[in-house]
Amino acid sequence: MVTAFREAVVDLAAITRNVEHLRRAIGTAHTMAVVKANGYGHGAVQAARAAVAGGADWLGVADIEEAIELRDAGLTVPILAWLHDPETDFADAITAGVDIGVSSADQLRQVTDAAERLGRPAAVQVKLETGLSRNGVHESEWAPVLTRAAELEQAGHLRVRGVFSHLSNASPEDDAEAVDRFTRGIALARAVGLRPDLTHLAASAAALRLPDSRFQMVRLGIAMYGLSPFDSDVTAATETDLGLTPAMTLRGCVAAVRRVQAGAGVSYDYTWRAPVDSNLALVPLGYADGVPRQASGRAHVRLGGRTRPLVGRIAMDQFVVDLGDDTASVGDDVVLFGDPATGAPGATDWARAAGTINYEIVTRIGNRVPRTYLNPPAGTTP
Ligand SMILES: *Cc1c(COP(=O)(O)O)cnc(C)c1O
Repeated sequence: MVTAFREAVVDLAAITRNVEHLRRAIGTAHTMAVVKANGYGHGAVQAARAAVAGGADWLGVADIEEAIELRDAGLTVPILAWLHDPETDFADAITAGVDIGVSSADQLRQVTDAAERLGRPAAVQVKLETGLSRNGVHESEWAPVLTRAAELEQAGHLRVRGVFSHLSNASPEDDAEAVDRFTRGIALARAVGLRPDLTHLAASAAALRLPDSRFQMVRLGIAMYGLSPFDSDVTAATETDLGLTPAMTLRGCVAAVRRVQAGAGVSYDYTWRAPVDSNLALVPLGYADGVPRQASGRAHVRLGGRTRPLVGRIAMDQFVVDLGDDTASVGDDVVLFGDPATGAPGATDWARAAGTINYEIVTRIGNRVPRTYLNPPAGTTP
């Protein structure tokens, strides 16, 4: 059975099912699977293939390099990349057939220069700023940028395939205001002669909760990996409520077991001392592997069919679990997080223990942790 010292097991069928389920629930014409940051730690190429098998017809990433990695792996579905180094040569994106998210007049010019050099039109999607104050064309620049984009489209340098923006999820009122702004932006794009077929605004949270934000496509990140986007909100829906299955299980093997006497200090700074004689298990994952040190003394793992507490500081490579009077053997399976339906803690439980969000827990799993893939879609190998 499972014996790796440390590993992140990714059930690709869970990603496929989550995408199918979300598509049924949301019902937009198009669905983008967001696989930036190595597929939120799950493996970008594997997650992308699993999402496509579930009906995703677009892929989304931050950097053009991430998009090219997907193309090199043989993924042929449309891809959008939206965050660019000022030095980026957009020729690579155009050659790879990657849609370029354009957030400024400067970027529009750079993309056009690259398209002219190649003698081949670029596919662009204009990102409008609607409240987040991050990238996107500011409302005061909408008219000149969209007008210029329409001229460049007419001149054959580019095709404006879409218009998009991103929500703050600050409150229903703030999001409704952003929806109104975005709707004005789409109207303006049409008024200057663009035909942006693909309009999109919602990521997982709004896709699930705010039907008015769905437009032609939703961009699904965290939800397709089976985690709730609402974990910071105490009234919020869990994965189970949303019908999602977490795809990643982070596990390891017990590396050592020792019996200590009452009063023994454990790990750096002795932040925990055994209150009574106790058995302790050493688990070979630490903050180098993405196990958050802030969760020291607060998180739990599944070991020997029970949920047990971490004690003392989480170190770079290891942490300690209190077994009380129970015993364990070197090599026993330890699950840090996985599908709560199996009795294991969830990534969301670890996020609460560390004072962060489940996104950060899965995305920061380190390179030292090999990914093992289960249930790849038919006709692919992981
Ligand atoms: C990361 C990202 C998403 C996905 O967000 P989730 O909350 O994980 O669904 C969607 N759109 C943009 C622009 C993003 O940067």
